[in-house]
Amino acid sequence: MTGLVIKAISGFFYVKSGDLIYECRARGALRNKEVVPLAGDTVEYTVVDSKSCVIDKVAKRKNDFVRPAIANLDKLFIVSSCHTPAPNQLMIDRIISVAESKGVEPIVVFNKSDLGDFGRLPEIYSQAGFETHIVSCRTGEGIDRIKKSLSGCISAFTGNSGVGKSSIINYIMPELALKTLDVSQKLGRGRHTTREVTLYSCNGGYLADTPGFSSIDIQRYEVILKEDLPNTFREFLKFSNDCCFTQCSHTKEKGCAVLKAVEDGLISESRHKNYCIIYDQIKDIKPWQVKKS
Ligand code: GDP
Ligand code: ZN
Repeated sequence: MTGLVIKAISGFFYVKSGDLIYECRARGALRNKEVVPLAGDTVEYTVVDSKSCVIDKVAKRKNDFVRPAIANLDKLFIVSSCHTPAPNQLMIDRIISVAESKGVEPIVVFNKSDLGDFGRLPEIYSQAGFETHIVSCRTGEGIDRIKKSLSGCISAFTGNSGVGKSSIINYIMPELALKTLDVSQKLGRGRHTTREVTLYSCNGGYLADTPGFSSIDIQRYEVILKEDLPNTFREFLKFSNDCCFTQCSHTKEKGCAVLKAVEDGLISESRHKNYCIIYDQIKDIKPWQVKKS
């Protein structure tokens, strides 16, 4: 039988299939090959008897993250707030790059719209080609649109502490706090403050409750090579073929079509500036320093 791992905790895997959730162990053969199933994995499992189930096989992953441990993420909602804390555009751009490099669709969310506006930021990201949301957990503005966007996908929220990730998730799924309690009680441990990932069904998709998905972890654990960086700035792509050098870094070269597009106002200056900062920070990383997943 096939199902989706919605939670992995201390060697137990909770596999959802239809309306049922099976508590599984991983087959020894899997463990020997060091394939540890993650939340988000599609797995084949066998019901051995009324008390035990085993996972036989983990389907090929589209992507995975180290921390939080999650696989097959479709959308990453990158949340900022206009105040306390103020938006950090470099952080947004870094996380967008990581998401793009892993085939995860970055969605840019500006929260706390009741406290002020975000200047040109929402426009910059929507013009660059990203789904962008302006929301408030106080007034409810924009939350329905986020909920719609969750449909049919595995999604997670990230962003700095205090931007309102938990508030948005609770707004979307008021029953979540209760559910978390249920799962913890069922497992017989106080698990509210741990970093384990749980996937919750939401609007025909799954939303990951990822307490540990901080922007710092993403920046620390996920590495991009400088050769790959231009491909993670999607608005560069329609210009980069016209650069004079095939190996153009788009930072300072003569005849760079990306720089020209920045000059012409077709690419946001701030996005390009952050690209150059990130490029500078990663330019000495070698392919062999990057973990293969
Ligand atoms: P997290 O650390 O990203 O999960 O942030 P929280 O959800 O814990 O929110 C941090 C603080 O911001 C809390 O005091 C929330 O009540 C507050 N907050 C969250 N969303 C909004 C919002 O839309 N407007 C206002 N004014 N405050 C918000
Ligand atoms: Zn160029």
